[in-house]
Amino acid sequence: MTNSVYTLPAPYNEPVKDYAPGSPERAALKAELTRQLNDSVEVPVIINGQAVRTGNVREIVCPHDHSRALGTFHMAGEDEIHAAIDAAMAAKPFWEAMDWQERAAIFLKAADLMSQKYTAKINAATMLGQSKNAFQAEIDSTCELADFLRFNVKFMEEIYTGQPRSGRGIWNRTEYRPLEGFIFALSPFNFTAIAGNLSSAPAMMGNTVVWKPASTAVLSGYFIMEIFKEAGLPDGVINFIPGRGSQIGRILLSHRDLAGIHFTGSTGVFQTLWQKTGEHIDTYTSYPRIVGETGGKDYIFVHPSADVTQAATAAVRGAFEYQGQKCSACSRLYLPKSLWPAFEERLGEQIKEIKMGPVTDFSNFVNAVIDEKAFDTIAGYIERAENSEDAEVIIGGERDKSRGYYIQPTVILAKEPDYETMAEEIFGPVLTIFVYPDDDLEATLDLLDSTSAYALTGAIFARDRGVVNHLMARLTHTAGNFYINDKPTGAVVGQQPFGGSRKSGTNDKAGSPLNLLRWTSPRTIKETFVPPEDFRYPFMDES
Ligand code: NAD
Repeated sequence: MTNSVYTLPAPYNEPVKDYAPGSPERAALKAELTRQLNDSVEVPVIINGQAVRTGNVREIVCPHDHSRALGTFHMAGEDEIHAAIDAAMAAKPFWEAMDWQERAAIFLKAADLMSQKYTAKINAATMLGQSKNAFQAEIDSTCELADFLRFNVKFMEEIYTGQPRSGRGIWNRTEYRPLEGFIFALSPFNFTAIAGNLSSAPAMMGNTVVWKPASTAVLSGYFIMEIFKEAGLPDGVINFIPGRGSQIGRILLSHRDLAGIHFTGSTGVFQTLWQKTGEHIDTYTSYPRIVGETGGKDYIFVHPSADVTQAATAAVRGAFEYQGQKCSACSRLYLPKSLWPAFEERLGEQIKEIKMGPVTDFSNFVNAVIDEKAFDTIAGYIERAENSEDAEVIIGGERDKSRGYYIQPTVILAKEPDYETMAEEIFGPVLTIFVYPDDDLEATLDLLDSTSAYALTGAIFARDRGVVNHLMARLTHTAGNFYINDKPTGAVVGQQPFGGSRKSGTNDKAGSPLNLLRWTSPRTIKETFVPPEDFRYPFMDES
């Protein structure tokens, strides 16, 4: 019985723990890292709440020490993929009918479990499995994930509160129904929080989900599933199927009950998903909602009036944190010639101090890139730059995959503004700088606008307020998340809703009501209290 209008707890951003020497969180994390390194996890497929072991297993390894296995995971095959869809469809009526406040309670509890009881566990899994340092793991798998859950619950309430006006004698209502069918969630390797959000946001709005995690982030994904279960999520609401993307995609995207795709990952994969959906458009019961946040070629534009040290620091943090494997990572930078000598010096000084190595040594700022494929792609860009007349590698460039997939923070100077590393997403610790003549501001802004197909994040550095306003207007469509005198990474849920346009995605802003709205199909209800009993209108009388 719900004879009350409940008030939900106010959302807040989870405070970031600093893991300083001597702190209890550092001791707990170190102990958990040791435990997971000495353990061997067997990650199953999870369908209708049941662990399924298919026997088709892959190793889970540490990117910074690929001889070190953390365990194995089972790959879903055709039977499991079909079973996951069936489970999602079977769970639907019960889940749809559950009071939304009860759904809210599940995800609020999951947020507290993640940020209290299991923070060391989920951070350690993200560190070891995805090669993040302690701070990067904390802001991702503990803080951002808890923030997504707590803020989304609040946004759900706001959406449901949105109701139409009613005239005399009638009552108008809007019911925010879940979509008809299941949601296909596909998550990338680089953020545990994104994985948790992609699967949970549609579920929060009353949908059921089939979730395919990235093969290089299965461990943290599995722990998220365990936490959702402990928080009370009913069986079948989210079904977890690690496996081959192309096989899973082929089956789910041709299913009549596909109601939506919640994707974050590369632009190429997203375009394939969209194309396949188009090919099957006659098959579906409804038009699937397609939400995808994809690649980026994120920039910093430095104006001659900028503070050089601040701009250089933003470049170092923006380009090299998590080895540049953030969709928002700064990977191209435009610098006026007058500031170049000072900027080059500050950049060099800071990069010289960066330590690279395994995540278990907390003094390392940079760890390994995710896998051999990524390593080879990034190394290919560096090698071509080393041999190109249009570019010069001025800092870093060393790489070694013998033990872990290590690539030194690398800076390339582009002699041509459209050199490939100024235009293409590399997704590694590589920053390319183009030095522009101070008096060529407008032409350089045109270059920035037109060089890359992406429009995810961008930052400007300038002190002159008139210039700030001008740049903001000139660069309107170059970034969905725009920063003034700040690095282009580190969006916080509830503060800077995240997403880009052009080839960077559908810009449905993860961690905002805009995203949650996509998982609803509103029903408008009009009720007339005293309906008319005569079809004739007054104007029909002649006298
Ligand atoms: P990816 O595109 O390789 O993989 C994403 C997911 O799709 C994974 O689960 C993968 O297994 C699956 N997949 C791959 N091929 C598939 C296919 N043919 N059919 C169905 N599924 C398939 O991306 P990634 O390497 O894991 O992540 C890095 C990318 O994600 C970068 O491009 C980055 O910019 C982007 N990203 C974007 C955002 C954003 O908010 N815009 C955030 C994080 C990452």
